[in-house]
Amino acid sequence: MAELSEEQRLMQQSCRAFVDDVVIPFIRADWRREWNMQPEERLPPHILDGADKVGIRTLGVPEEFGGIELDKGSEVQTFALISREIARGDSGLADKLVQNWKVSVLLRNLAPRHLQERWFARLVADPQFLLAHCLTEPRGASDRWLPYNVPEAAMQTRAVRRNGEWVINGRKQFISNGYDAGLYVVYANTNPAVGMLQGTSSFLVPRETQGLTVARCNETLGCRFMNNGELVFEDMRLPEDHLLVENDALGKAGVYFRPGKIIQAAKNLGVGERAFEVAADYAQNYVQGGRILIKHQAVALRIADMATRIEAVRALLDRAASAVDAEAPDADALCNMVKVFASEEILKVAQHAVELHGGSGIMLDFGVEKLLRDAAIFLHMDATVDISKLKIVKALFPRTAGKYAGPEA
Ligand SMILES: Cc1cc2nc3c(=O)[nH]c(=O)nc-3n(C[C@H](O)[C@H](O)[C@H](O)COP(=O)(O)OP(=O)(O)OC[C@H]3O[C@@H](n4cnc5c(N)ncnc54)[C@H](O)[C@@H]3O)c2cc1C
Repeated sequence: MAELSEEQRLMQQSCRAFVDDVVIPFIRADWRREWNMQPEERLPPHILDGADKVGIRTLGVPEEFGGIELDKGSEVQTFALISREIARGDSGLADKLVQNWKVSVLLRNLAPRHLQERWFARLVADPQFLLAHCLTEPRGASDRWLPYNVPEAAMQTRAVRRNGEWVINGRKQFISNGYDAGLYVVYANTNPAVGMLQGTSSFLVPRETQGLTVARCNETLGCRFMNNGELVFEDMRLPEDHLLVENDALGKAGVYFRPGKIIQAAKNLGVGERAFEVAADYAQNYVQGGRILIKHQAVALRIADMATRIEAVRALLDRAASAVDAEAPDADALCNMVKVFASEEILKVAQHAVELHGGSGIMLDFGVEKLLRDAAIFLHMDATVDISKLKIVKALFPRTAGKYAGPEA
């Protein structure tokens, strides 16, 4: 990474101290906690209170609304730095927090000023307040990521303007913070005759809106301190001013998606760095065959493999994050590359960590298997591995690879 600014260095230090002094001890103290089937009881409030105290909860909120505004020229790089540190402690906690940052960036770009005033004030005042971003529907998210820009692939959640209001019907699934957010950004079809790039609108939906039901919390394999949820909208009526973008909402959401992919890769890297830490520590201390593990060459080779993969992810992440901050022409391809590359490399890093711990690596109370579960989640977030690769090749060859979907010109 380019040399850290004073601001970045201080934030990184206080975040690392929070993770080392609060988050890791909390996770180590009770491995059963993440399996509590009462989602609202899983993460005790003092963890988000602590994140608030070290100033990492409201990144992305403009200073005039009480947030922590970062230097715009390196904002995405700072998001990457901090999300990586938090995920080193717990990836689910990082998921919870980064949704607030990403949605805040979207709101400051797209929401009318009076709604920014109202919702940023709520977010800043309440350390437990969460934001969520709702695209995925039961019919599949891959069509949206590609996107297949034809009417038959459009969203099924529908919004219709009626008597000065918006009426929304449909459902969303797999939504990060979906179970416990106070405010949702929801995407819906507003013109079924055209492709989704021309006919999708976005709306601001307060949790207490009549017609919105939080239908369930999904029980996930990893990142379990983030409560992933499903939402149902039945004749949900919204005031007209809660429209964020009419019809070309997916195009305008680039301010969310590009930093989003960088943040995914950065959280993923944090999981890998933690896996390396615990594996390296174990290999330096645990004795087999009369020697500490690292003296056995097969073990040493695995440690070298872990370190190399982590360095490669770090390097690509730095390059991609700088490209997004600089709005470089290759930023789109790079942020998909780093998201998918990190997901596959760090999964391997976590696998090594588990294998190096032998049987202990598999035991829940030992705590190492959690890293493999957390790493596995990244394959599926913000597009699958295969869809991310399709997006890369479309970005590289827009005239050929980019044209296979939908009617040919
Ligand atoms: C932990 C977690 C958090 C999430 N958070 C959010 C969130 O906050 N907001 C949100 O909107 N969504 C969220 N998602 C949803 C996520 O973006 C989707 O799960 C992901 O994009 C895949 O979509 P899908 O599950 O609908 O799979 P599908 O689209 O049904 O895909 C199923 C399989 O088919 C393949 N496939 C589909 N189409 C093609 C094609 N054209 N060519 C080749 N292969 C294809 C896919 O690669 C995949 O292997 C989250 C998911 C997870 C797991």
